[in-house]
Amino acid sequence: MAKITRSISAKKSSVPSVPKKVAKKAAKALPKPAKKSAKPKPWTPAEIHEAFSRFRQANPEPKGELDHLNPYTLLVAVVLSAQATDAGVNKATRALFAVADTPQKMLELGEEKVREYIKTIGLYRNKAKNVIALSEKLIAEFGSEVPRTRAEIETLPGAGRKTANVVLNMAFGEHTMAVDTHVFRVGNRTGLAPGNNVLEVELELEKVIPSEFMLHAHHWLILHGRYTCLARKPRCEVCLINDLCRWPEKTV
Ligand code: SF4
Repeated sequence: MAKITRSISAKKSSVPSVPKKVAKKAAKALPKPAKKSAKPKPWTPAEIHEAFSRFRQANPEPKGELDHLNPYTLLVAVVLSAQATDAGVNKATRALFAVADTPQKMLELGEEKVREYIKTIGLYRNKAKNVIALSEKLIAEFGSEVPRTRAEIETLPGAGRKTANVVLNMAFGEHTMAVDTHVFRVGNRTGLAPGNNVLEVELELEKVIPSEFMLHAHHWLILHGRYTCLARKPRCEVCLINDLCRWPEKTV
């Protein structure tokens, strides 16, 4: 194949050459190739403050949508929510948490029964195993309490950085930023916190969002992504921050 290509390109073209003057004129008449899209202008601190003031005004006390009774059940719910919807998790945990709302009760229930309660959730076998293992670890190493540091939470089976950030924020009021698929999309699309991966977006959001908004910022961004800045068809016409958003494809 390489040989053929070489022999063709080596041949002198049979197409008659265009006089330079004509070619220049034709080139001028052609539409100019679109410029490579420029990087959107970063948000100014005033714009960021404005955006979060609007979120706060619209929803002063945003709540997470995962049902839980205490830090332990929140931790379990977040572990179960990986690749599942909050509504699907809530449906399963309603009955589970009614009988097991502490690590000890979960252990007494046993892996098989936990599996039964959560079998409507994706990856339930593995998740049941993790729920039992993390309950054992909480009893053995943390006095049956959910630890308060990210590093410690991350040592629990099934819990990663995002789980730790959600628990630290919702159970203990820490200014953490859990980046899920919605927050990742909103951070990038709006230009508020562009990043190639969830960690980059998380760190950028933590850097640019004023402290006064950080307690609820995670929920505002999740809710914004879930109900307004939808993945396929963002509802730009009803978006609270449509004048500030940098997305070149926004529809307003
Ligand atoms: S204007 Fe559109 S793209 Fe921008 S944040 Fe709002 S909904 Fe999302």
